[in-house]
Amino acid sequence: MSQKTKDMSRYFTPPDLKAAKKRGKEQVSVLEFESLPEEMREIGKGKKYLIKTFGCQMNVHDSETMAGILELMGYEPTETEADASIILINTCAIRENAEDKVFGEIGRLKTLKTENPELILGVCGCMSQEESVVNRILQKHQFVDLIFGTHNIHRLPHLLQEALFSKEMVVEVWSKEGDIIENLPKVREDGLKAWVNIMYGCDKFCTYCIVPYTRGKERSRRPEDVLAEIRELARKGYQEVTLLGQNVNAYGKDFTDRTYTFGDLMDDVRKIGIPRVRFTTSHPRDFDDHLIEVLAKRGNLVEHIHLPVQSGNSDILKRMARKYTREQYLELVRKIKKAIPDVVLTTDIIVGFPGETDEQFEDTLSLMREVEYDSAFTFIYSPREGTPAAKMKDDIPMEVKKERLQRLNKLQDEISRKKNEALRGKVVEVLVEGESKKNSEVLSGRTRTNKLVNFKGPKHLIGQFTHVRITEPQTYTLKGEWVEEMTVSRVSG
Ligand code: SF4
Repeated sequence: MSQKTKDMSRYFTPPDLKAAKKRGKEQVSVLEFESLPEEMREIGKGKKYLIKTFGCQMNVHDSETMAGILELMGYEPTETEADASIILINTCAIRENAEDKVFGEIGRLKTLKTENPELILGVCGCMSQEESVVNRILQKHQFVDLIFGTHNIHRLPHLLQEALFSKEMVVEVWSKEGDIIENLPKVREDGLKAWVNIMYGCDKFCTYCIVPYTRGKERSRRPEDVLAEIRELARKGYQEVTLLGQNVNAYGKDFTDRTYTFGDLMDDVRKIGIPRVRFTTSHPRDFDDHLIEVLAKRGNLVEHIHLPVQSGNSDILKRMARKYTREQYLELVRKIKKAIPDVVLTTDIIVGFPGETDEQFEDTLSLMREVEYDSAFTFIYSPREGTPAAKMKDDIPMEVKKERLQRLNKLQDEISRKKNEALRGKVVEVLVEGESKKNSEVLSGRTRTNKLVNFKGPKHLIGQFTHVRITEPQTYTLKGEWVEEMTVSRVSG
């Protein structure tokens, strides 16, 4: 194994959670990704890369950027660990067990690194923004070659060059509030659906969440850059874009040179010839009337809104620092349903937050009944080190948390089933994504409301819009029959 000198001090700015919480008014700089000098474009020639991605869509999209950078450096993708010259682990910090998985993965890759000392092993993503994680890797996993943070992705060519040529462990984690880097290269997963970052970071500081500390402050990309990227995707034949941010509804609030909100952005995206536009994730607090008005214009703006509630009880919401009450949330839902009567709402809910009583949990059940979500991501609360909630007494026994989760899921399943049942016999528009994972005879696609539909049909439909009559609605998916005469030809730009 190559000898390494452990002189980290030159590269390592330790992430500092306290500093992260003191959000400054510091100007966000918009920088351009520099074109790579010729010698850097040669580094990966004849070599392969593999990126293992954990966590949310933000991470998936970051991995697309890292892939874009690596391919610019000459690397080619591989799915086989043994063929890779570089393996990057893009980590998630949202839950303790996500971290355990990542450390398991790092430990497992040690054997590969021992067999192939030339392999570059890198750890990046949200976990690398945490002091405790970086220290643990420095102490116990010294075979790792490279650690870089969420603000350092554009620096990958330089960091990789450093790791390759100096043979030292390279650690670069900026604990800063973050800039915006434009023109980053990307390798998107498919040619059909694309993610587009519209903003980065989060200033909400929900008490259970680590994201504001790992992703920096809220900062929006300029609308002209976002719109140009979407127009380019439309020109390339993409059929769907999802606008991405930790809290997309806060888009534009940080602009000092203009007044331009998320509603304005959606209104402009509406005029671009891309058939479907989604967004995620929204925060109820910043969801304003103008946005509802724009969404009600429909067209390519789909009638699906993911609106995380987290709890149905105002006291718990207060302790979560969600900054809205149960009543305010329900009022927002009422307004949305009035403007878009067939809207599909989905949500995120946490059960067993510190101090949650049976009655407070019942409020979550009653809210679920009242809103009638089509589906919900439900979680058992677990403390994240470094967040304010981690200092609260985690006093709900695990069996109570589990029982609450079961009751919540049972209720949601009943509602989901009822909602899907209402589609029986209806014809829905489906964007066909490919063969079903379980049966290659069956095609799979999604409705405008993001429901998964399985049906039998000719393979040439893949990548196209078509129509399907729903014959067997189920709790999580819909089965249907292809309605041949109604196939819609692929729309492009
Ligand atoms: S809005 Fe709250 S839950 Fe969402 S990323 Fe920000 S702090 Fe976390």
